[in-house]
Amino acid sequence: MILIVDDSPENIISLKKVLEKNDFEVDTASSGEEALKKILKKSYVLIILDVQMPGMDGFEVAEAVSGYSKAKETAIIFLSAATANVNLITRGYSSGGLDYISKPVDMNILLLKVKTFYRIYEQSRALNEMQKALREEIEFRKEAERKKDEFISIASHELKTPMTSIKGYIQLLEKSLDKNDKETIRARLHKVQNQIEKLNVLIADLLDISKIESGKLKFNKQYFSFDNLLEHLIEVMQQSNPQVKIVKKGSVDGNIFGDEMRIEQVIINFITNAIKYGPDGEEIHINSEIRDNELYFSVKDFGIGMSEEHQQKIFEKFYRIEETSERFQGLGIGLYICQEIIDRHKGKIGAHSVLGEGSEFYFQIPLYSEKEEKKQPQL
Ligand code: ADP
Repeated sequence: MILIVDDSPENIISLKKVLEKNDFEVDTASSGEEALKKILKKSYVLIILDVQMPGMDGFEVAEAVSGYSKAKETAIIFLSAATANVNLITRGYSSGGLDYISKPVDMNILLLKVKTFYRIYEQSRALNEMQKALREEIEFRKEAERKKDEFISIASHELKTPMTSIKGYIQLLEKSLDKNDKETIRARLHKVQNQIEKLNVLIADLLDISKIESGKLKFNKQYFSFDNLLEHLIEVMQQSNPQVKIVKKGSVDGNIFGDEMRIEQVIINFITNAIKYGPDGEEIHINSEIRDNELYFSVKDFGIGMSEEHQQKIFEKFYRIEETSERFQGLGIGLYICQEIIDRHKGKIGAHSVLGEGSEFYFQIPLYSEKEEKKQPQL
């Protein structure tokens, strides 16, 4: 916006008319004092300033304006009869730009100057924005780099832990073999298998992450029995985790449409987390039902829970709750992968949790393929 400052109403009217005709937004002030008040409140691109005014003259106004942070980028065009005085003020003035036009004003020249100042203003604004975006971009890189380093160090640690256990058990196995102690051999082999399974899951998760990044996570969707899948999973997980009681509630009749292996992965992740972040001896409640033509599935635990603030972030890549990350092993990628899987089923994933009381993780996905969905009666 342009501010015209002139004590003569006729001058203001004629300048305003020409500028507005050329699509410039214009504000006016009839004295130096009024102009200063306006400049304090609003940012102007340009001030057209009459030098000879009763009260504060144009130079005094310019001098005062040079101290305003709001007017740092504002340019001034003086309307003056005498050019010599203008040169005096230019020396001390370090704002957006200065120029002058001698009176009587040649409107064509004035317009030319106004347009030039506007162009400079637009260019410098674009430059500033570009600079800001670049700075943010650099910060964001730096941040990504830091996260990656942190991830590599956690991932190596996570991979090393089961490896070390496997090495240890194999050494013990050798001893048991020498003694031909079959019972112990079987128990130790079982432990090695468990550790290998842990490694397997870790490596599969790492591979999934890189597939998600490159858009190569593939889905093989077809109709399958959700109830059969869940029954089987609960049985297996209950067997390998006798310290908790997994309670199944609700059921889903008929088939649902999706990638069975990927849905299985989400269920295992929810239950594994419920076991990991829940206390031994407590129950874990698993619920599945049909709600409005959608499968609704949830896993509830009575464990450490989390605050509202963390609930928003746990589905982000690599996010782990810092306060508890020392106590529980993990990479902070399981829920991120779950979210991607549910997104790709056009579903919804989320958590309700109360710190110290427990958490409930859920997902919802449409029961039918998109083609079938159109044929279904809407409930
Ligand atoms: P990981 O458990 O390997 O760290 P996840 O992506 O599965 O990674 O979970 C991300 C974070 O969310 C966990 O580090 C933990 O802080 C929190 N979290 C997940 N599930 C639960 C739960 N049932 N109760 C409390 N916190 C949980």
